[in-house]
Amino acid sequence: MPTTHAAYAAPAATSPLGPLSIRRREPGPTDVAMEILFCGVCHSDLHFARNEWGFTVYPCVPGHEIVGRVTAVGTKVSRFKVGQTVAVGCMVDSCRECASCRDGLENYCEKGSTFTYNSPDKFGTGPHTFGGYSTAMTVDQAFVLSVPESLDPAGAAPLLCAGITTYSPLRHWKVGRGTRVGVVGLGGLGHMALKLAHAMGAEVTLFTTSPGKAADARRLGAHNIVISRDEAQMSKAANSLDFIVNTVSASHDLNPFMNCLRRDGAMCLVGAPEHPHPPINVMGLIFQRRSLAGSLIGGIRETQEMLDFCGTHGIVSDIERIPMQKINEAYERMLKSDVRYRFVIDLASLKG
Ligand code: NAP
Ligand code: ZN
Ligand code: ZN
Repeated sequence: MPTTHAAYAAPAATSPLGPLSIRRREPGPTDVAMEILFCGVCHSDLHFARNEWGFTVYPCVPGHEIVGRVTAVGTKVSRFKVGQTVAVGCMVDSCRECASCRDGLENYCEKGSTFTYNSPDKFGTGPHTFGGYSTAMTVDQAFVLSVPESLDPAGAAPLLCAGITTYSPLRHWKVGRGTRVGVVGLGGLGHMALKLAHAMGAEVTLFTTSPGKAADARRLGAHNIVISRDEAQMSKAANSLDFIVNTVSASHDLNPFMNCLRRDGAMCLVGAPEHPHPPINVMGLIFQRRSLAGSLIGGIRETQEMLDFCGTHGIVSDIERIPMQKINEAYERMLKSDVRYRFVIDLASLKG
């Protein structure tokens, strides 16, 4: 029998989020049931809640930066035990058979990953999957991560999306000591990119539209700061970088950033705005053999590797804790780039 739990949901694209009761399945043999302690607030949650990408199903319970405590495990679960601090990111299942899944890249599952929210619910417990803006969930052990004990659980929650989404391209493009890396946008993803690229040994340049974030950027790991709306500063940065990770959540001109790449440099888009970017200047690509790419979160194996890397380097997110009831206000502040640097919901506010 599924059990009922408190959650917060968007009932429609134009309505604020509010309380909803949802069902979670009893743990099957390979399942881990957990009480949710903390859930980070990703800009993707806002894009989904407001149907900005056009494929949201309602009611929508967002949340894919989840840290919880195990309350029960199935008979075949050996890696997790009751009381352990665990985490769940953007996926709760995949086909596990296709070439991508076999390569540990469940995020690129050819049959479509089961995302933590807004995906068909294979178990039929709900109309579709519901995310971490809720007090409990049940997830197959193959999609549950271990959180290093040294990390603060609330600060670790954003690693599950903001962390892995920036870690994965930094690794894929082989960022390391001596690499000159640019990070565009200092929000949830951007601040993780600064910390991670710095820890990997890169020389890091932050591009921001918010001059008031400069001091924070230095503390978070930036060696250089460029105000991206200042043309003189942008010209000075031309042809200087090997790799750029662009985390901006809104449509903007990519060309000034492409122009900052050296020959053979690449810019990877992780920001996924509602509206398209203006056209890219092809000559700018051709003449310096530059690449424009994209990247989606990361696989489960790499997510564990990222958590362990953060454990070793003492990296967590800079967070502002909020009760569940403040989520609509948090969304408005996120839209004004007024978050330093991730809201994290304390699910104690929905319990009792
Ligand atoms: P966020 O915390 O709101 O940060 C976005 C940052 O972008 C802002 O802080 C701001 O930085 C900059 N920005 C916002 N509007 C801008 C504009 N009009 N022009 C230029 N810069 C602007 O969002 P987030 O949670 O980091 O997410 C960022 C994006 O990544 C979202 O679109 C989200 O959906 C997407 N995402 C993608 C993946 C993936 O797998 N690819 C995973 C997670 C999230 P400054 O103040 O420094 O300019
Ligand atoms: Zn996310
Ligand atoms: Zn697959």
